[in-house]
Amino acid sequence: MSVLDLFRLDGKVAVVTGGNRGIGKAIATALAEAGATVVVAARDAERNEQAVAEISKAGPAAHAVTTDVTSRSDLVNLRDTVTERLGPIDVLINNAGVGIHGESLTIDDEGWDRVMATNLDAVWKASQVIGEQMVGRRSGAIVNVGSMSGMIINRPQWHAPYAVSKAGVHHLTRSLAAEWAPHGVRVNAIAPGYTKTEISDIDDPRWKHYWIDEVPMQRYAQSAEIAPSALYLASAASTFVTGEILVIDGGYTLW
Ligand code: NDP
Repeated sequence: MSVLDLFRLDGKVAVVTGGNRGIGKAIATALAEAGATVVVAARDAERNEQAVAEISKAGPAAHAVTTDVTSRSDLVNLRDTVTERLGPIDVLINNAGVGIHGESLTIDDEGWDRVMATNLDAVWKASQVIGEQMVGRRSGAIVNVGSMSGMIINRPQWHAPYAVSKAGVHHLTRSLAAEWAPHGVRVNAIAPGYTKTEISDIDDPRWKHYWIDEVPMQRYAQSAEIAPSALYLASAASTFVTGEILVIDGGYTLW
Protein backbone atom coordinates (compact mmCIF):
# COMPACT_ATOMS: atom_id res chain seq x y z
CA MET A 1 0.00 0.00 0.00
CA SER A 2 1.28 3.46 -0.90
CA VAL A 3 1.47 6.01 1.89
CA LEU A 4 -0.85 8.19 -0.17
CA ASP A 5 -3.54 5.48 0.09
CA LEU A 6 -3.75 6.26 3.81
CA PHE A 7 -5.28 9.62 2.91
CA ARG A 8 -8.08 7.98 0.91
CA LEU A 9 -11.63 8.02 2.28
CA ASP A 10 -13.30 5.75 -0.27
CA GLY A 11 -16.60 4.37 1.02
CA LYS A 12 -16.60 6.74 4.02
CA VAL A 13 -19.43 9.11 4.92
CA ALA A 14 -18.30 12.57 6.04
CA VAL A 15 -20.45 15.36 7.48
CA VAL A 16 -19.12 18.93 7.25
CA THR A 17 -21.02 21.54 9.26
CA GLY A 18 -20.97 24.92 7.56
CA GLY A 19 -19.72 23.19 4.43
CA ASN A 20 -21.43 25.53 1.99
CA ARG A 21 -18.68 28.15 1.75
CA GLY A 22 -15.24 29.21 2.97
CA ILE A 23 -13.04 26.82 4.89
CA GLY A 24 -15.87 24.28 5.27
CA LYS A 25 -16.43 24.05 1.52
CA ALA A 26 -12.70 23.65 0.91
CA ILE A 27 -12.56 20.82 3.47
CA ALA A 28 -15.69 19.20 1.98
CA THR A 29 -14.11 19.34 -1.48
CA ALA A 30 -10.86 17.81 -0.22
CA LEU A 31 -12.70 14.94 1.52
CA ALA A 32 -14.75 14.30 -1.64
CA GLU A 33 -11.59 14.27 -3.75
CA ALA A 34 -10.23 11.66 -1.33
CA GLY A 35 -13.29 9.51 -2.08
CA ALA A 36 -15.71 10.33 0.75
CA THR A 37 -19.42 10.82 0.28
CA VAL A 38 -19.80 14.29 1.77
CA VAL A 39 -22.85 15.79 3.48
CA VAL A 40 -23.03 19.57 3.80
CA ALA A 41 -24.88 20.67 6.95
CA ALA A 42 -25.63 24.39 7.08
CA ARG A 43 -28.68 26.67 7.29
CA ASP A 44 -28.90 28.23 3.81
CA ALA A 45 -30.55 25.49 1.70
CA GLU A 46 -29.93 27.23 -1.63
CA ARG A 47 -26.28 27.76 -0.87
CA ASN A 48 -25.99 24.18 0.34
CA GLU A 49 -27.25 22.93 -3.04
CA GLN A 50 -24.81 25.17 -4.94
CA ALA A 51 -21.95 23.84 -2.82
CA VAL A 52 -23.10 20.23 -3.27
CA ALA A 53 -23.00 20.68 -7.06
CA GLU A 54 -19.42 21.97 -6.87
CA ILE A 55 -18.23 19.38 -4.33
CA SER A 56 -19.73 16.56 -6.42
CA LYS A 57 -17.33 17.47 -9.26
CA ALA A 58 -14.43 16.46 -7.01
CA GLY A 59 -15.68 13.00 -6.00
CA PRO A 60 -18.80 10.94 -5.25
CA ALA A 61 -22.16 12.74 -5.37
CA ALA A 62 -22.42 15.00 -2.32
CA HIS A 63 -25.58 15.67 -0.31
CA ALA A 64 -27.05 18.44 1.82
CA VAL A 65 -29.14 18.36 4.97
CA THR A 66 -30.37 21.79 6.03
CA THR A 67 -29.13 22.13 9.59
CA ASP A 68 -28.82 24.78 12.27
CA VAL A 69 -26.03 23.41 14.41
CA THR A 70 -27.27 25.28 17.46
CA SER A 71 -30.37 23.04 17.47
CA ARG A 72 -29.99 19.59 19.01
CA SER A 73 -33.10 18.35 17.17
CA ASP A 74 -31.60 19.50 13.84
CA LEU A 75 -28.44 17.56 14.69
CA VAL A 76 -30.41 14.43 15.54
CA ASN A 77 -32.29 14.82 12.25
CA LEU A 78 -28.93 15.24 10.46
CA ARG A 79 -27.52 12.04 11.97
CA ASP A 80 -30.64 10.00 11.34
CA THR A 81 -31.20 11.28 7.79
CA VAL A 82 -27.59 10.65 6.78
CA THR A 83 -27.57 7.20 8.38
CA GLU A 84 -30.78 6.22 6.64
CA ARG A 85 -29.71 7.49 3.20
CA LEU A 86 -25.97 6.82 3.20
CA GLY A 87 -25.08 4.71 6.22
CA PRO A 88 -23.39 5.62 9.51
CA ILE A 89 -21.14 8.66 9.76
CA ASP A 90 -17.41 7.99 9.69
CA VAL A 91 -16.11 11.57 9.75
CA LEU A 92 -17.53 14.67 11.43
CA ILE A 93 -16.01 18.07 10.67
CA ASN A 94 -17.30 20.63 13.18
CA ASN A 95 -16.57 23.71 11.10
CA ALA A 96 -19.62 26.04 11.38
CA GLY A 97 -18.67 29.25 13.12
CA VAL A 98 -19.48 32.93 13.54
CA GLY A 99 -17.40 35.86 14.73
CA ILE A 100 -18.08 39.29 16.14
CA HIS A 101 -15.62 42.07 16.82
CA GLY A 102 -16.06 44.65 19.52
CA GLU A 103 -14.66 45.99 22.74
CA SER A 104 -15.84 43.81 25.61
CA LEU A 105 -17.81 46.61 27.29
CA THR A 106 -19.90 46.99 24.11
CA ILE A 107 -20.85 43.33 23.59
CA ASP A 108 -24.26 42.43 24.97
CA ASP A 109 -25.46 39.06 26.23
CA GLU A 110 -27.08 38.25 22.89
CA GLY A 111 -23.71 38.64 21.12
CA TRP A 112 -21.87 36.49 23.66
CA ASP A 113 -24.61 33.84 23.61
CA ARG A 114 -24.77 33.68 19.80
CA VAL A 115 -21.04 33.15 19.44
CA MET A 116 -20.94 30.51 22.17
CA ALA A 117 -24.03 28.73 20.83
CA THR A 118 -22.56 28.34 17.34
CA ASN A 119 -18.84 27.99 17.99
CA LEU A 120 -18.71 25.96 21.20
CA ASP A 121 -22.10 24.60 22.33
CA ALA A 122 -22.83 23.27 18.84
CA VAL A 123 -19.49 21.44 18.71
CA TRP A 124 -20.42 19.81 22.02
CA LYS A 125 -23.92 18.90 20.80
CA ALA A 126 -22.83 17.59 17.39
CA SER A 127 -20.02 15.59 18.99
CA GLN A 128 -22.50 14.05 21.44
CA VAL A 129 -25.18 13.29 18.84
CA ILE A 130 -22.86 11.87 16.18
CA GLY A 131 -20.18 10.69 18.63
CA GLU A 132 -22.73 8.44 20.29
CA GLN A 133 -23.07 6.57 17.00
CA MET A 134 -19.27 6.49 16.51
CA VAL A 135 -18.61 5.20 20.03
CA GLY A 136 -21.30 2.57 19.48
CA ARG A 137 -19.54 1.42 16.30
CA ARG A 138 -16.06 1.80 17.88
CA SER A 139 -15.01 3.82 14.82
CA GLY A 140 -14.91 7.44 13.75
CA ALA A 141 -12.89 10.62 13.39
CA ILE A 142 -13.99 14.07 14.53
CA VAL A 143 -12.11 17.16 13.37
CA ASN A 144 -13.03 20.45 15.02
CA VAL A 145 -12.19 23.78 13.44
CA GLY A 146 -10.69 25.85 16.24
CA SER A 147 -8.56 28.90 15.63
CA MET A 148 -5.23 30.44 16.53
CA SER A 149 -7.52 32.94 18.29
CA GLY A 150 -8.04 30.23 20.89
CA MET A 151 -4.31 30.37 21.66
CA ILE A 152 -3.31 34.03 21.41
CA ILE A 153 -4.99 37.43 21.74
CA ASN A 154 -5.54 39.02 18.32
CA ARG A 155 -4.92 42.72 17.66
CA PRO A 156 -6.12 45.36 17.00
CA GLN A 157 -9.78 44.25 16.91
CA TRP A 158 -11.02 42.72 20.15
CA HIS A 159 -13.22 39.66 20.07
CA ALA A 160 -13.22 38.09 23.52
CA PRO A 161 -16.29 35.84 23.00
CA TYR A 162 -14.86 34.40 19.76
CA ALA A 163 -11.44 33.76 21.30
CA VAL A 164 -12.95 32.13 24.38
CA SER A 165 -15.23 29.94 22.24
CA LYS A 166 -12.25 28.69 20.23
CA ALA A 167 -10.14 28.04 23.35
CA GLY A 168 -13.12 26.01 24.56
CA VAL A 169 -13.18 24.07 21.29
CA HIS A 170 -9.53 23.18 21.76
CA HIS A 171 -10.04 21.90 25.28
CA LEU A 172 -13.24 20.08 24.36
CA THR A 173 -11.18 18.39 21.63
CA ARG A 174 -8.65 17.17 24.18
CA SER A 175 -11.33 16.12 26.66
CA LEU A 176 -13.31 14.04 24.17
CA ALA A 177 -10.12 12.63 22.65
CA ALA A 178 -9.02 11.20 25.99
CA GLU A 179 -12.48 9.91 26.83
CA TRP A 180 -13.21 8.28 23.49
CA ALA A 181 -9.76 6.95 22.54
CA PRO A 182 -10.48 3.57 24.19
CA HIS A 183 -13.72 3.47 22.16
CA GLY A 184 -11.95 3.78 18.79
CA VAL A 185 -12.95 7.40 18.12
CA ARG A 186 -10.28 10.03 17.43
CA VAL A 187 -10.95 13.72 18.11
CA ASN A 188 -8.59 16.39 16.78
CA ALA A 189 -8.73 20.05 15.82
CA ILE A 190 -7.18 22.41 13.34
CA ALA A 191 -6.37 25.97 14.37
CA PRO A 192 -6.22 28.18 11.28
CA GLY A 193 -4.66 31.62 11.21
CA TYR A 194 -5.90 34.49 9.05
CA THR A 195 -7.71 32.97 6.07
CA LYS A 196 -9.51 34.74 3.26
CA THR A 197 -13.25 33.96 3.57
CA GLU A 198 -16.48 35.86 4.16
CA ILE A 199 -15.98 35.88 7.94
CA SER A 200 -12.81 37.99 7.72
CA ASP A 201 -12.42 41.50 6.25
CA ILE A 202 -8.84 40.56 5.62
CA ASP A 203 -8.12 42.86 2.69
CA ASP A 204 -9.00 46.01 4.65
CA PRO A 205 -5.83 48.16 4.43
CA ARG A 206 -6.37 49.30 8.04
CA TRP A 207 -5.47 45.84 9.31
CA LYS A 208 -2.64 45.02 6.86
CA HIS A 209 0.08 45.70 9.43
CA TYR A 210 -1.45 43.31 11.97
CA TRP A 211 -2.93 40.67 9.70
CA ILE A 212 -0.28 40.38 7.01
CA ASP A 213 2.97 42.16 7.93
CA GLU A 214 3.08 40.51 11.37
CA VAL A 215 2.64 37.00 9.95
CA PRO A 216 6.11 35.47 9.47
CA MET A 217 5.03 34.31 5.98
CA GLN A 218 3.80 37.86 5.27
CA ARG A 219 0.45 36.77 3.88
CA TYR A 220 -2.88 35.22 4.76
CA ALA A 221 -4.06 31.71 3.83
CA GLN A 222 -6.50 30.57 1.20
CA SER A 223 -9.12 28.03 2.35
CA ALA A 224 -7.56 25.39 0.11
CA GLU A 225 -4.39 25.58 2.24
CA ILE A 226 -6.36 24.68 5.38
CA ALA A 227 -8.26 21.71 3.92
CA PRO A 228 -5.39 19.16 3.58
CA SER A 229 -4.75 19.23 7.34
CA ALA A 230 -8.40 18.34 7.98
CA LEU A 231 -8.08 15.45 5.51
CA TYR A 232 -4.96 14.23 7.32
CA LEU A 233 -6.76 14.21 10.68
CA ALA A 234 -9.91 12.63 9.22
CA SER A 235 -8.07 9.80 7.45
CA ALA A 236 -5.99 6.73 8.24
CA ALA A 237 -2.90 8.88 7.73
CA SER A 238 -3.31 9.92 11.38
CA THR A 239 -4.45 6.69 13.09
CA PHE A 240 -2.22 7.30 16.16
CA VAL A 241 -3.07 11.01 16.48
CA THR A 242 -5.75 12.19 18.88
CA GLY A 243 -6.29 15.30 20.99
CA GLU A 244 -3.99 17.29 18.70
CA ILE A 245 -4.55 20.96 17.83
CA LEU A 246 -2.85 21.39 14.47
CA VAL A 247 -1.93 25.06 13.94
CA ILE A 248 -1.98 26.36 10.34
CA ASP A 249 -1.09 30.03 10.65
CA GLY A 250 1.94 30.90 8.50
CA GLY A 251 3.92 31.12 11.73
CA TYR A 252 1.83 33.81 13.44
CA THR A 253 1.74 32.12 16.87
CA LEU A 254 5.53 31.74 16.87
CA TRP A 255 6.11 35.29 18.09
P1 NDP B 1 -17.70 31.66 6.67
O1 NDP B 1 -18.45 32.79 7.29
O2 NDP B 1 -17.22 31.80 5.27
O3 NDP B 1 -18.58 30.33 6.76
C1 NDP B 1 -19.25 30.01 7.94
C2 NDP B 1 -20.05 28.76 7.68
O4 NDP B 1 -20.71 28.38 8.90
C3 NDP B 1 -21.13 28.95 6.63
O5 NDP B 1 -21.15 27.79 5.83
C4 NDP B 1 -22.42 29.05 7.44
O6 NDP B 1 -23.50 28.56 6.67
C5 NDP B 1 -22.08 28.16 8.62
N1 NDP B 1 -22.86 28.43 9.81
C6 NDP B 1 -22.85 29.54 10.59
N2 NDP B 1 -23.77 29.44 11.57
C7 NDP B 1 -24.34 28.21 11.43
C8 NDP B 1 -25.36 27.52 12.12
N3 NDP B 1 -25.97 28.05 13.19
N4 NDP B 1 -25.70 26.29 11.70
C9 NDP B 1 -25.11 25.73 10.62
N5 NDP B 1 -24.13 26.34 9.92
C10 NDP B 1 -23.77 27.58 10.32
O7 NDP B 1 -16.51 31.34 7.68
P2 NDP B 1 -15.08 30.65 7.52
O8 NDP B 1 -15.07 29.68 6.40
O9 NDP B 1 -14.06 31.71 7.57
O10 NDP B 1 -14.99 29.90 8.91
C11 NDP B 1 -15.16 28.51 9.05
C12 NDP B 1 -14.60 28.12 10.40
O11 NDP B 1 -13.21 28.45 10.45
C13 NDP B 1 -15.26 28.84 11.58
O12 NDP B 1 -15.39 27.96 12.67
C14 NDP B 1 -14.25 29.93 11.89
O13 NDP B 1 -14.33 30.37 13.23
C15 NDP B 1 -12.96 29.21 11.61
N6 NDP B 1 -11.79 30.05 11.39
C16 NDP B 1 -11.78 30.99 10.39
C17 NDP B 1 -10.66 31.78 10.18
C18 NDP B 1 -10.59 32.83 9.12
O14 NDP B 1 -9.65 33.64 9.14
N7 NDP B 1 -11.52 32.84 8.17
C19 NDP B 1 -9.47 31.63 11.04
C20 NDP B 1 -9.60 30.62 12.04
C21 NDP B 1 -10.71 29.86 12.20
P3 NDP B 1 -25.02 29.10 6.82
O15 NDP B 1 -24.95 30.57 7.05
O16 NDP B 1 -25.70 28.70 5.54
O17 NDP B 1 -25.58 28.34 8.00
